[in-house]
Amino acid sequence: MKELRLPIYLDNHSTTQVDSQVVDAMLPYFSEQYGNAASKQHEFGWRAEAAVEAARKTIARLIGAEKNEIVFTSGATESINLALKGVAEAYASKGNHIITAATEHKAVLDTCKRLEKYGFQISILPVDRYGLVSVVDVENAITEKTTLVSIMTANNEIGTIAPIREIGEMCRVRNIIFHTDATQAVGKIPVDVIAMNIDLLSFSSHKMYGPKGIGALFVRSTTPKLRVMPQIDGGGHESGLRSGTLNVPAIVGFGEAAKLAHAAMEEESVQIKHLRDRLENGILAQVPDSFVNGHPTSRLPNNSSITFRFAEADRMMMEMKDVAVSSGSACSSDEPEPSHVLRAIGLNNEDAKSSIRFGVGRFTTEQEIDYVIQRVRETVQSVRDRKVHVQLTH
Ligand SMILES: *Cc1c(COP(=O)(O)O)cnc(C)c1O
Repeated sequence: MKELRLPIYLDNHSTTQVDSQVVDAMLPYFSEQYGNAASKQHEFGWRAEAAVEAARKTIARLIGAEKNEIVFTSGATESINLALKGVAEAYASKGNHIITAATEHKAVLDTCKRLEKYGFQISILPVDRYGLVSVVDVENAITEKTTLVSIMTANNEIGTIAPIREIGEMCRVRNIIFHTDATQAVGKIPVDVIAMNIDLLSFSSHKMYGPKGIGALFVRSTTPKLRVMPQIDGGGHESGLRSGTLNVPAIVGFGEAAKLAHAAMEEESVQIKHLRDRLENGILAQVPDSFVNGHPTSRLPNNSSITFRFAEADRMMMEMKDVAVSSGSACSSDEPEPSHVLRAIGLNNEDAKSSIRFGVGRFTTEQEIDYVIQRVRETVQSVRDRKVHVQLTH
């Protein structure tokens, strides 16, 4: 058996290890192939451009899009900003109302807050106890001022997969633009922008075994033309939607990651789900007063969010430094606040703060899972014992 290497990484919703095939594909574009993809007059530029366009094609194919519908950005946060602010600005004469949900990533919620300061009206819809937003709630929230609906494909904390196709269809019928943050979904579960009626879709390379600092916004190109106001002006790169010299090595890496995901997804998701279920069932069987958050079936195959009653997650993670997991989302974990997602599905503050997110990945092994189950069991017990001790001596 392979030797167990510590610490064990089970935080694959925060970021993923760059696949070695991705690294190999990127390397030449730092050294020999260093051209600027916008240099039209020489070989260096042509080669860089060819590499970018090949990657664009592979990335488009992964979500069922056309090559010309992919705009490269620095990551999902930027894609989301471009989508939300870009549509809000372009359609300001039509209306000023945007609909989203309480469990969205901060990249969506904080962008909406910013737009609110500029006079836009934001409706933040509640979710049910599994984290699902209802299509009927979205439809009922629409007013004649609504221009945009933004609902995430899969949640980054509890893994719940939204009824995207239905929401998209309803938006299409009502002539409302539909954006989805699919950062956790792309490369993990099938995503098809046509079948799902998606107008705008944000995603990111580093959540799918590619490098950090590169992502994309899908912008539907069919008629009537969707208008998005650029948020970064400059040389008019990316069809004028996002100026700035392209990060060629990162784009090549993103393309390679998309290629690997396309080829491996079906098989890999079965393997990952098997490990996730082993982890979840092992923990639930061995740790009393623990329960799983998120939807029982409509959930990402790699996600497990577990609440350990009477055991604070921060204490657990302090004691369990050989296992890399997260409480809440990485982006908000320096805030002492409990996760807004867990609060939105109805957990009280104490339970929300006693929850840990496990994220299984491509490189996770069964041996690692079995080790983590034991460590979680010991740690919960020790944290709970100490809590009882403290309570008894005070
Ligand atoms: C990670 C993540 C983001 C932010 O992506 P970056 O590429 O790191 O900016 C946005 N939304 C969701 C759901 C995420 O998981």
